[in-house]
Amino acid sequence: MNYHVLTLFPDMVLNGLNTSIIGRAVEKGILSIEAVNIRDYTKEKHGHVDDAPYGGGAGMVMQAAPVCDAYEALCVRLGKRPRVLYMTPQGQVFDQAMARELAAEEDLVFLCGHYEGIDERALERIVTDELSVGDYVLTGGELPAMVMIDCISRLVPGVLNNDQSAEIESFHDNLLEYPQYTRPEVYEGQRVPEVLLSGHHKNIEQWRREQSILRTFERRPDLLKKANLTLKEQAFLEELKRDLQDKKRLQL
Ligand code: SAM
Repeated sequence: MNYHVLTLFPDMVLNGLNTSIIGRAVEKGILSIEAVNIRDYTKEKHGHVDDAPYGGGAGMVMQAAPVCDAYEALCVRLGKRPRVLYMTPQGQVFDQAMARELAAEEDLVFLCGHYEGIDERALERIVTDELSVGDYVLTGGELPAMVMIDCISRLVPGVLNNDQSAEIESFHDNLLEYPQYTRPEVYEGQRVPEVLLSGHHKNIEQWRREQSILRTFERRPDLLKKANLTLKEQAFLEELKRDLQDKKRLQL
């Protein structure tokens, strides 16, 4: 997977991504991350890449020409026109399913806005997808790009040591992950659940699956509608719902 980040702050992106698991995957050549400085493509004498918005209003707007020129130069270099993901609070909220879909691409371009955003004409010309990290406004698209690159990369084969760990995590199959424990067996009087010490793999698997369903039911019931549950698991879920109703009735 090759990431190309169009940004006014290349150091921020590179410093943030060249460590830990992602950094090691870059070293191994499984991923490549380049930050293209949009400022290198301005034709203005003083290196300006932004200007006041037409019609008035607060802040500055990034100009269309340097953004489009940076992308076109990249396309010439690559010999193809990769998808351009514009980081914007107005986009579709990024999730694990989108990460899975994007992980199948060979090249991805992340376009990071700053100030009041980017001239709409540049977006119309080059952007294929508009993505948000959530319903709040940040100062720039660099952190959202880094969040998405981190998430997508974990799904690229070879990036995680154990490919299985991405398979059983939160949001896989629309369930949250079960609780995790490690040594010691007893911490401040709290014991690790007995089943995890039993060595009985089938029971452990069943316990984990039920804990996942329970957690999702308690914390993110909206996800359960899309979860793939067996008949036995559906019955377990119905039992959880009945217990909750009983508890509510007792409180009245
Ligand atoms: N004026 C814009 C608006 O109201 O939609 C917000 C501009 S924001 C201050 C500057 C840049 O930060 C945006 O162009 C975008 O690249 C990035 N950004 C801010 N919040 C974001 C979010 N929730 N998700 C993705 N990108 C975001």
